[in-house]
Amino acid sequence: MGMFAGTPFDRPPHCERCERLESECVCPPEVPATISPASQKLKVSLEKRKRGKSVSVVQGFADDPPAVQNVLTKLKTVCGAGGTLKEGVIEIQGDHQPRIRSVLSEMGYVVR
Ligand SMILES: [Zn+2]
Repeated sequence: MGMFAGTPFDRPPHCERCERLESECVCPPEVPATISPASQKLKVSLEKRKRGKSVSVVQGFADDPPAVQNVLTKLKTVCGAGGTLKEGVIEIQGDHQPRIRSVLSEMGYVVR
């Protein structure tokens, strides 16, 4: 008598999503989950630029570029300032650190 008789081990493997036999499964490949804001630790800082100008810098995004682009759009609107996104780092013209921190927190990001 097989020692796995009557246990799940003697069932052929089934797909966890469609519950068909894996050999009959037609599920599409799994799409990578978007990274939750709560798992991203962002750093907000102020940097001086030429001619005495300062920019608020947000870095530490692990999101896809379109998601970070959304954050940039929101920050520009809330701060009423221009901004750019370069290689995953957001820059907003002027010192808007407190506002940026509160917007990012509201969106669920972890800000330090
Ligand atoms: Zn399946």
